[in-house]
Amino acid sequence: MHTVRIPKVIRFGEGALSGTEYPRNALVVTTAPPEMSGRWLDRMGIRDYMLYDRVTPEPSMEDVDRLVSEYKSRSPSVLIGLGGGSSMDVVKYSAREFGVEKILVPTTFGTGAEMTTYCVLKFDGKKKLLREDRFLADMAVVDPYFLEGTPEQIVKNSVCDACAQATEGYDSRLGSELTRTLCGEAFDILHDAIMNGRPENYPYGSMLSGMGFGNCSTTLGHALSYVFSNEGIPHGYSLSACTAVAHRHNKSAFYERFKECVEKLGFGGLDLKADVGAAADVVMADRGHLDPNPVPVTRDDVVRCLEDIKSGNV
Ligand SMILES: [Zn+2]
Repeated sequence: MHTVRIPKVIRFGEGALSGTEYPRNALVVTTAPPEMSGRWLDRMGIRDYMLYDRVTPEPSMEDVDRLVSEYKSRSPSVLIGLGGGSSMDVVKYSAREFGVEKILVPTTFGTGAEMTTYCVLKFDGKKKLLREDRFLADMAVVDPYFLEGTPEQIVKNSVCDACAQATEGYDSRLGSELTRTLCGEAFDILHDAIMNGRPENYPYGSMLSGMGFGNCSTTLGHALSYVFSNEGIPHGYSLSACTAVAHRHNKSAFYERFKECVEKLGFGGLDLKADVGAAADVVMADRGHLDPNPVPVTRDDVVRCLEDIKSGNV
């Protein structure tokens, strides 16, 4: 028996943003400055809304508490998370406090966060990955409109994350026929979009990837990547090498095609400042990603993967 959870309503494709009707008295939550959010809100055609744009990047429980204390008494009809992961995470966590539904509108794509039951927030200064059914969106609106105006390197990092999530998700031991269908289709679309210059298909591929891996897990590639994140390397960038060596270790059917994508996107090398042994210990503690890996992973395997990443042998 398997369970797959996705948002109740998914509106996607060109025109999704402007073609959706947003309830009056909605509370729009974003990190974007007014000149940017103003453009987006115009495009949405939303009226009589409240705007909260003081979410901090990598938000914490304080962001949630501030939003609730400032706006609860104004009884918004719905919460709208408009932005990247930060805005959506605050909305995912806060909606229950308001007792209203949530609409998620990703303006950067790649993580597929609008499709998942995951929520990342800082507690006492430490990032925590939470997973609860209540974090799922009631409606997700995915429109390639936002691609234009996103810096090229961010687009590349994002699509690399989506490719890593789709392929690791496909291979995850927590997967089912349905998650494999979603992840496999996601990667086919993303691979084609990257290799044949069709970036307008990135958001749809990422969305499918989110629906897929969000209902199973990512694996060794993601486990390896967090030691690079700790040194400030963007998530998607570090996956270009981490997921490639992980696929080689796993003898994944996706290894060659994943590498093709990485090469086409033009990722450079990846350095690790931390001691490899110490980093391997951090990776080994990440059971949430290692336990669902398709093949067992020893500490020696992790050391070898990290050495390969450092020396560019991917
Ligand atoms: Zn990821």
